[in-house]
Amino acid sequence: MARFKAWVIEKGEAGQNLSFTDFDEADLMDGDVTVRVTHSCLNYKDGLAMTGASPVVRRFPMIPGIDFSGVVEASDHPEYKPGDAVVLTGWGVGETHLGAYAEKARVKGDWLVPLPAGLSPEQTMAIGTAGYTAMLCLMALDAHGVTPKDGPALVTGASGGVGSVAVALLARAGWHVMASTGRAGEADYLKSLGAAEIVDREELGKPGRPLGKERWAAAIDAVGSTTLANVLAQTKADGAVAACGLAQGMDLPTSVAPFILRGVSLLGINSVTTPQAKRRAAWARLAAELDLDKLAAMTNRIGLAEVGGLGPDILSGKVRGRTVVEVG
Ligand code: NDP
Repeated sequence: MARFKAWVIEKGEAGQNLSFTDFDEADLMDGDVTVRVTHSCLNYKDGLAMTGASPVVRRFPMIPGIDFSGVVEASDHPEYKPGDAVVLTGWGVGETHLGAYAEKARVKGDWLVPLPAGLSPEQTMAIGTAGYTAMLCLMALDAHGVTPKDGPALVTGASGGVGSVAVALLARAGWHVMASTGRAGEADYLKSLGAAEIVDREELGKPGRPLGKERWAAAIDAVGSTTLANVLAQTKADGAVAACGLAQGMDLPTSVAPFILRGVSLLGINSVTTPQAKRRAAWARLAAELDLDKLAAMTNRIGLAEVGGLGPDILSGKVRGRTVVEVG
């Protein structure tokens, strides 16, 4: 397969252009493992890359797609040999290194993890960067020492990818889950994943007071901006908020009040460069703790040819749960 199907972003004077085309294997970037991609998925960052709404792509031409599962075709890396099933998330793939929306990828073996025991290649991409990030958030809350005995846990952007997996994981861990969403019609969906209460995201999206009524002991926030400020202001004393997203915005119009008057902790989550040991621990926990029936219920499937049209949809909050891209 000297040439293979791929989505390619090119940049010209009129801006960037996304097309589904044939890509030459000789034009893949350096790496010690070549992978036949079988599955990828759609994440918010893929929407940013494909539309150019935010400058996450730093090299042109770029194949978008920040994560994949697949089978090793060729390897000079000591840990991987042809036929091995592998998973990749992050490391700048789909941003600075040619990415996952293609039948082939060549990457550094150090970026890969072996397919986690108990998960299929498709299930790893149903989880994808979004679900893996939800687990990193849960691990950060656990490490902080906050537990379901301390009070409820809030999830913002709950109907999205990070949010849906976070709701399922927190419910499984015994939390009373409060799910914040702008989609009232998704209340039954969120309850089926384990949410005990629905919070209208309007309540959290407008500027509020530096401190409010203490409502939750923990939170996983995929939204940022004014929402995160209100989440912090309504977190119980000594509670913690894991912040991973910016669906509302990159800003954080808050004060020090939640930190110095209530001892609230803000835990930052970056999934892109997580060290190997923590990555593997997160995947092992996902395999053990994520209800696979709930994962199936939150997942849609599309073909590789369709993913290029979905960038605007995920950025405008129209995509529910997770979307697997079936590549080959
Ligand atoms: P999704 O689009 O699937 O989910 C985002 C959700 O946020 C939407 O479904 C919607 O939920 C809510 N939302 C969207 N727009 C707004 C808005 N203007 N105001 C308030 N809420 C809004 O994206 P993902 O789950 O893939 O990613 C979520 C966020 O996490 C993104 O910002 C992404 O960049 C970030 N992220 C960060 C990572 C990291 O390493 N730090 C890794 C992975 C993701 P609802 O309709 O229920 O309100």
